[in-house]
Amino acid sequence: MRHGQQLRQTFTLLLRPVACRNLDPMAKFDDDPATIAALRDRLLAWYARHRRDLPWRQSTDPYAIWVSEIMLQQTRVAVVVERYRTFMDRFPTLVALALAGEQDVLALWSGLGYYRRARMLHKAAQFVAAHLGGNLPARAEELRALPGIGAYTAAAVASIAHGQRVAVVDGNVERVLCRIAGWDAGSRKGGGAALRRKIETLAGKLLDPAHPGDFNQAIMELGATLCTPRNPQCLVCPISANCKTRGEHKTPRRVPMMSRAVSYALSVRTSPKPGKTKGPSTREVLLEQRPAHFTVMPGMWELPTLTRAEVPANDLRMTLRHAIMQVSYYVRIRTVFEDDVEGMTVTGGERRWVPLREAANIALTGLTRKVLARAHLLPALPLDLIAPPASQDIA
Ligand code: SF4
Repeated sequence: MRHGQQLRQTFTLLLRPVACRNLDPMAKFDDDPATIAALRDRLLAWYARHRRDLPWRQSTDPYAIWVSEIMLQQTRVAVVVERYRTFMDRFPTLVALALAGEQDVLALWSGLGYYRRARMLHKAAQFVAAHLGGNLPARAEELRALPGIGAYTAAAVASIAHGQRVAVVDGNVERVLCRIAGWDAGSRKGGGAALRRKIETLAGKLLDPAHPGDFNQAIMELGATLCTPRNPQCLVCPISANCKTRGEHKTPRRVPMMSRAVSYALSVRTSPKPGKTKGPSTREVLLEQRPAHFTVMPGMWELPTLTRAEVPANDLRMTLRHAIMQVSYYVRIRTVFEDDVEGMTVTGGERRWVPLREAANIALTGLTRKVLARAHLLPALPLDLIAPPASQDIA
């Protein structure tokens, strides 16, 4: 056969829709030890070659793995990388984290969103330091008893740090397994708890007992990099031979985001240094602390809210988009002079004029940090440069 013909035939085979192939690798797939072993080998070999070089992968310290797993929930890897390094520099051990004040922890979490994660992480560290001698439990069942640690995090830490044979099931794993098994994650019939149980059973069967930590990371990595929600790269997928759908799988539609408009006051003043009337001055920004009873971001500092959402075009300092959970906020910022603050803003929590050099180190909401950075009042974080326009900032 001529070379051109061979190539054409190879591509025709690769690109032919799965439905026409009359192949059913899953028919005996999850009960055939040889097929499962081959899948594990291919996936692990692919992971060894293609895994991303991420800072937490250089550590086997359960605390470091725990921190990374909590940060990675609902947050993109690119955003986590920088924040993880800063967090670990400041709190290199579980005891260092336990001894810190909550405001310090929240300040380092600022911009990552889902602040409840930081509070729970801190609480769990304090519990482990006070009651378990500073040693994080090794078993997934024990880890789950700690604040903020669910089935996924417990399985990830126990398998990666201690080699426990327990499978992780996060959103990526769920998508990969549904696709290889041909299960419709979006269907009402056969979905929900029953589907979840099937996914967990399959994840447990596929888990490599000799390398549970690597296997778990490999399947999550596959979901994050190749088997993505849209446009899975099936032609280069190491387990495509075992996949029933190979790109035919429907991804459930995202819930559309709601849109809301909010407006904040940016007030900056220049004051002499405390106790001095002459000499160098200091620039301060007016911030307000969200009351402790708020369910969203309690205790965090933000710009005061304007009484009127509408801002005349001439007074508009900047506009931006910012996402909090399922809401996309259209944010207007206007400059307000110190004398006008009282009449133009809604009084909420405690207010303080905060020196700009201190503002970077307090627990600012992600939106406030973003606004101050864009106004060149705070240094821009790498996070602000790489996060999408609607970066998340969630309680
Ligand atoms: S073949 Fe495609 S759909 Fe199947 S697991 Fe691989 S990337 Fe996902």
